[in-house]
Amino acid sequence: MTNDTWGRVREDLLHSIGKDAFKNWIEPLEFNGLESGVATFNAPTSFLGNWVSRNYGDQILRGLSTGDGTVDRLEFTTTARKSPARTANSTAKIDAANSASATGASPDLPGAPLDKRFTFDNFVVGKPNELAHAAARRVAEGGAVTFNPLFLYGGVGLGKTHLMHAIAWEMQKRDPGAKVLYLSAEQFMYRFVQALRFKDMIGFKELFRSVDILMVDDVQFIAGKDSTQDEFFHTFNALVDQNKQIIISADRAPGEISGLEDRIKSRLQCGLVVDLHPTDYELRLGILQSKAELQEQYYPGVVLDRGVIEYLAHRISTNVRVLEGALTRLYAFASLVGREVTLEVAQECLADILRASDRKVTIDEIIRKVADHYNLRLNDMLSPRRARSVARPRQVAMFLAKALTSKSLPEIGRRFGGRDHTTVIHAVRKIEELKAVDSQIAEDVELLRRMLEA
Ligand code: ADP
Ligand code: MG
Repeated sequence: MTNDTWGRVREDLLHSIGKDAFKNWIEPLEFNGLESGVATFNAPTSFLGNWVSRNYGDQILRGLSTGDGTVDRLEFTTTARKSPARTANSTAKIDAANSASATGASPDLPGAPLDKRFTFDNFVVGKPNELAHAAARRVAEGGAVTFNPLFLYGGVGLGKTHLMHAIAWEMQKRDPGAKVLYLSAEQFMYRFVQALRFKDMIGFKELFRSVDILMVDDVQFIAGKDSTQDEFFHTFNALVDQNKQIIISADRAPGEISGLEDRIKSRLQCGLVVDLHPTDYELRLGILQSKAELQEQYYPGVVLDRGVIEYLAHRISTNVRVLEGALTRLYAFASLVGREVTLEVAQECLADILRASDRKVTIDEIIRKVADHYNLRLNDMLSPRRARSVARPRQVAMFLAKALTSKSLPEIGRRFGGRDHTTVIHAVRKIEELKAVDSQIAEDVELLRRMLEA
């Protein structure tokens, strides 16, 4: 077999796995040769070698074997190379990983800087975030404004800011002249207060009305801040009137942000409201794999045992920032002590993070949060009263107790003022039914779940 055969296999792979995957995984490989049925490749990192072997190994074997000899096995070696082994594309990613520094959106606008790492390329899509991702993509394409605003919401560390930056980067790439202004709601308030102080409201208004795309992150921050809200409302309306795209994020749905004026809530609900759901195992696995790949380039030679990543995806909370932190620590640790990262090493090194995400929701917490949410007293939740206004929240709490804890039905019943387990079953069924037909209940349950799991 010759390099030509490998060339042909590469061609086939390019077609079958697509340009992006090809660039990420196949392009960095160097074919070393074939000896007694073993084809060897040089890979920039062992993670990459493992990945290719696991995901494309069969396909490569098959491809190579149709040549003038049979190939039984692939072998990936990693030798440190002098020059960056990766493509220009991934080199850019390394730089970005090394410096979280960033450039501003439009240079003449007083927005917050954009993080270079927060691009669509670096965003891993899974079930929990596919809608938000699709909506963000659509907005980033520019063109006619179809929904305004785009309202993204979800818990901490689920990628809201990442998606907003990705939109900004993409829009700037498409139209370098576009005035994209990204800032947090807190910065919006700060600018506003400055303008008041220096008597420059005209300048402030002109500035915000002159942008093509306005992005305001974490808008829940202005809840309860009346004059800032007022100004925000006017800015918002002025831009909508001019058909300028607005993108907003918050930690909860517009209707759930207390302390936000009703007229603003309803304005925010006018566009497309999409939420980022808590990550699931598959998404966490995907994110970890992609981040590990970046880390491997940063810490060449550090190897995570197979299984460590699966373990982290299982054990660490839904917050992606926490996942990232764990991974970064593992790599730093491994490169400092020069040890291979086995499952044991990982457990030892991440003990505190693991303990924190081990925190289980308790029935007491559930009862307290639900009572709070519905403005009831704790006693109401446990009392025999059957009035709807008390019974329904109690059912919601039982439902959540079943969903979020591992307690048995009889145990849950006992904790709710010594009720029978059939009462709990009934409550769980009832709420399941209601969730499907009553959007208020569905929202309540979602919100409570989110708060309890946060
Ligand atoms: P939020 O603004 O929702 O609190 P961020 O956007 O700041 O969360 O995300 C927290 C961290 O997790 C960031 O480093 C971000 O890049 C990363 N992250 C979140 N979701 C994803 C994803 N789907 N793919 C890759 N990285 C993600
Ligand atoms: Mg954020």
